[in-house]
Amino acid sequence: MSDAHILTTENLVMQFGRGVAVDHVDFALREGELRCLLGPNGAGKSTFFKCLTGQLTPTSGTVKFRGKDITGWNTQDIAKVGVGIKTQVPNLFNGVSVCENVRMAARRKHLKSMARDKAEEMMEKCGVAHLARREVGLLAHGLRQLVELAMVLAEEPPLVLLDEPAAGMTGDERDRLADLVLETARKAAVIVVEHDMAFIRRIARFTTVFNRGAIFREAMIDEIMSDRAAQEIYLGK
Ligand code: ADP
Ligand code: MG
Repeated sequence: MSDAHILTTENLVMQFGRGVAVDHVDFALREGELRCLLGPNGAGKSTFFKCLTGQLTPTSGTVKFRGKDITGWNTQDIAKVGVGIKTQVPNLFNGVSVCENVRMAARRKHLKSMARDKAEEMMEKCGVAHLARREVGLLAHGLRQLVELAMVLAEEPPLVLLDEPAAGMTGDERDRLADLVLETARKAAVIVVEHDMAFIRRIARFTTVFNRGAIFREAMIDEIMSDRAAQEIYLGK
């Protein structure tokens, strides 16, 4: 991890009508850092995430990637500067095979000849190589999540954003995902929004707890898990 920030937000606000889903959030992530975002349902995690990925345009405040203001950019342009995005609902091309999906993603970054190999490597890594010829639309949710992760990683982005990647996964798939996240975090910065505590325990280090649209606490996961007030918040009690 270096001292430089890869992603920052300043005074970020997202309002829906009169409701404030993200309330003046100042957030900073270092190059190569792995950060988990916790918080109860409705805390604003996904809304914050969507402001980072361009799925939503924040009401006010700024989002910067390596010092460049990317506030209000669309998702494609944000992806182009080096942000790999896995949304809560897998974003796949249904009707085509797993390997076509992953190759398409690999071609955005690599020459055609290289893209094939990269796609193979990523399908292998993500445990979906045996499904290469299957149509993605017919796969279970957990497997679709792994295919989308293979697509994100095939582009080798310096920043990877994952919203509830463990949702719908079996125990084995979740273990694989945890290994993948840890491995990805050796080369890239990663933000993971999750509420599966078994998963969080395996991967989390420095963690941000959201509550009511604001940052409630930032600390190492061990500290957060032994702090009653934070516990009540992240468990949504
Ligand atoms: P989390 O991901 O932490 O569960 P969300 O970001 O999904 O929380 O939601 C935060 C708040 O914003 C909730 O009160 C939710 O109802 C509200 N919200 C989220 N998306 C919208 C939307 N598109 N329109 C109106 N309100 C929304
Ligand atoms: Mg959410």
